[in-house]
Amino acid sequence: MIRVRFAPSPTGYLHLGGLRVCLYNWLFAKKYKGKFILRIEDTDIKRKVEGATENLIQTLLKMGLDWDEGPYLIFKKGKFEIRQKGKYGPYIQSQRLKIYQKFAKELIEKGSAYYCFCSKNDLEKMRKEQILKKLPPMYDERCRKLTKDEIKKRLAKKIPYVIRLKVPEEGYIEFNDLIRGRVKFDFKNIDDQILLKSDGYPTYHLAVVIDDHLMKITHIIRGEEWLPSVPKHLLIYKSLNWKIPEFAHLPLILNPDRSKLSKRKSDVAVESYLKQGYLPEAILNFVALLGWNP
Ligand code: GLU
Repeated sequence: MIRVRFAPSPTGYLHLGGLRVCLYNWLFAKKYKGKFILRIEDTDIKRKVEGATENLIQTLLKMGLDWDEGPYLIFKKGKFEIRQKGKYGPYIQSQRLKIYQKFAKELIEKGSAYYCFCSKNDLEKMRKEQILKKLPPMYDERCRKLTKDEIKKRLAKKIPYVIRLKVPEEGYIEFNDLIRGRVKFDFKNIDDQILLKSDGYPTYHLAVVIDDHLMKITHIIRGEEWLPSVPKHLLIYKSLNWKIPEFAHLPLILNPDRSKLSKRKSDVAVESYLKQGYLPEAILNFVALLGWNP
């Protein structure tokens, strides 16, 4: 059974690029009689916008892109309420915090992640020193060297911590992308990514892997900007002994000057085109035929 997902972050409106990613997933599910899942990735509280999830849901429905599992809206007492359907829920990440925390601890026990007690100040100082030395700003792994005893003491003192991924010091990781082909990354260039923040919220990297696994996603079809994140994700899959899904990273929609299509340079909100009177079919046709033609 093919299972794919569209996983937007509720930071405002549906972006044309998001619509294109969603369409490819939807078409792939339809073609293979699979399931299409909508998941809301709202763990970055600073970027979360009130009402954005409702807005995303409404725009997707206006575009005719429906889903088998995930949040949906009902109209009750004069306003919209979010409900969810499907047996792998909740499909809203902020409602899954306990799940992420449990797996973050499991990664520590397996030796694939570690506690980091560095303060904002420590990190800022580290970054400045690295810039002065013309080094790429990366976590210098000082907490990776803490002994079991030192960790225990800090935990007992309730010093705030994050959990970081332990990226191997050397070597390469390779994987196959259905669009890009073989892709290879050098561990040297990969930072010890934060997986769980000090407020108990996961970062994108931890949440996406756990959810794609638990929601039984078979094919991850998303924008190319996520390709450099795959090595980090693979380390998590491998550590937890989970089956690795297929990856397909779609090229991005660009402005005529080849910069990434963004709201500073163009109108990128799908709802804005709908408001201007473009028919959903016309917008879908436009997005479907970008980059190729029959
Ligand atoms: N929440 C991410 C986004 O908004 C999803 C990336 C993914 O599909 O893994 O782009």
